Amino acid sequence: MSKTPRIRIPPEVRKYVFQRDKYQCKSCGKTSIETDLTIDHIIPLARGGQNDISNLHTLCWICNQQKSDKSDHQFRRHFES
Ligand SMILES: [Zn+2]
Repeated sequence: MSKTPRIRIPPEVRKYVFQRDKYQCKSCGKTSIETDLTIDHIIPLARGGQNDISNLHTLCWICNQQKSDKSDHQFRRHFES
């Protein structure tokens, strides 16, 4: 299986998303102190998602991995902004 190419998210955008989400995973609520945080596309690029701030949110790497293992409607965000 080939992956959809991703545009690298600029550092200032990453910082903005982290700050907006208060450095907290949007799924499990862990913070940057407890785990490593990543930027995730809410709507995957493969499904027409954009590299836009409104389509980006903070996930820890564990939730990010779990999300990629599941289809999107099975993945639920417990911490809606
Ligand atoms: Zn998490």
